[in-house]
Amino acid sequence: MAERVKNCISCGVRLEGAGAVRFKCPTCGTEIGRCGKCRKQSNVYVCPSCGFKGP
Ligand SMILES: [Zn+2]
Ligand SMILES: [Zn+2]
Repeated sequence: MAERVKNCISCGVRLEGAGAVRFKCPTCGTEIGRCGKCRKQSNVYVCPSCGFKGP
């Protein structure tokens, strides 16, 4: 439960370097990570816990 998200939810790349972010799912609060590339491209993410989709 205390483990931090280490990989981008969209492409699976490691979250390191500029632009990588972690945030909580607006619906269930599960931590989600995204890399700078996916943020730039506005890739859709899907929460692994509740299936929430967001840009
Ligand atoms: Zn990514
Ligand atoms: Zn969720």
